[in-house]
Amino acid sequence: GREWHLVSRPRGWPVPEDFALREVPVRRPADGEVLIRNLHLSVDPYMRGRMNDVKSYVAPFALDEPMDGAAVGEVVESAAAGFSPGDHVLHSFGWREYATAEAARVTPVSAELAPLTAYLSVLGMTGLTAYAGLVDVAELREGDVVFVSGAAGAVGGQAGQIARLKGASRVIGSAGSDEKVRLLTEEYGFDAAFNYRAGPVGEQLAAAAPDGIDVYFDNVGGDHLEAALDAFNVHGRAVICGMISQYNATEPPAAPRNLMLTVGKRLRLQGMLVRDHQELQPRFVEEVSAWIRSGELTYRETVAEGIENTVDAFLGMLRGLNTGKMIVSLTG
Ligand code: NDP
Repeated sequence: GREWHLVSRPRGWPVPEDFALREVPVRRPADGEVLIRNLHLSVDPYMRGRMNDVKSYVAPFALDEPMDGAAVGEVVESAAAGFSPGDHVLHSFGWREYATAEAARVTPVSAELAPLTAYLSVLGMTGLTAYAGLVDVAELREGDVVFVSGAAGAVGGQAGQIARLKGASRVIGSAGSDEKVRLLTEEYGFDAAFNYRAGPVGEQLAAAAPDGIDVYFDNVGGDHLEAALDAFNVHGRAVICGMISQYNATEPPAAPRNLMLTVGKRLRLQGMLVRDHQELQPRFVEEVSAWIRSGELTYRETVAEGIENTVDAFLGMLRGLNTGKMIVSLTG
């Protein structure tokens, strides 16, 4: 089977030469293990951070070793009780065609309950991030005005819709194209949305939020966070979920320049990691799958085909080629 290795550490934007797709022997499962053929791979923004050799909340990718990440696959051989060929599993041995894994490190998933890609998107890690960010971190209240950046992406699109469904009085989103902006207002039910490439974020947010904002779900950082600090009402709450505008930067960011506003407005800016919120998982799946069934929440996925296109899909996601979750399918 083939697997992706990081072969050099990118500085700034990664280039295809930083990665190599290598053929390796498939190892048969030892006692307590399963052999999995991967069907769908997740590519995620946090993986960019793992390409740097710095101490962070996840270990860096090792050079010349298989990269990893979330994936859904099918058991093809089992030496573990409770697993049989044909079973579908969610696990963290992505970026490769075949994985031999301890059964304790894989989670069964059902193709009858949801499309398998949903376990990487709307019912998966990005979905829980949106849910936990609003429920646990922002402590969303009915009547809040909510601003979401990266709003046509996996986390942002779901965060905006959950805010609407949980009683926000107004939901505003920003995204990087007019087409994405239309998706937000016409399909996701955002009250207002703007294209951050079409003009200054601060001016566009001020126009979209004449009464200010109470919650900011930050996926972007930089000038978006600066604009949100300006727009905040007193006691506003920012969920610092990610800062994708900076992941490929080689210089420290210039914004936000107005952090002092946190004092006068008594703002709360709280960073989050989805892994701290696993106890919300059952409630999250129950609530979100009900909204999907009733049609109140919709989601998009952008699917690239073939293991050889994984790096391009990852880089494309960083550039905004995706709408909703970016996934690589190996089923073609
Ligand atoms: P997305 O599906 O949102 O894909 C990334 C998107 O980022 C692109 O589609 C692009 O959309 C946008 N983007 C890229 N560069 C910029 C830029 N310079 N300014 C504004 N937008 C940009 O990815 P995810 O939903 O998986 O992740 C969204 C955010 O959430 C990331 O910051 C990620 O790190 C974070 N995250 C944090 C977690 C946590 O536990 N804290 C867990 C999961 C995700 P566009 O066309 O609109 O530019």
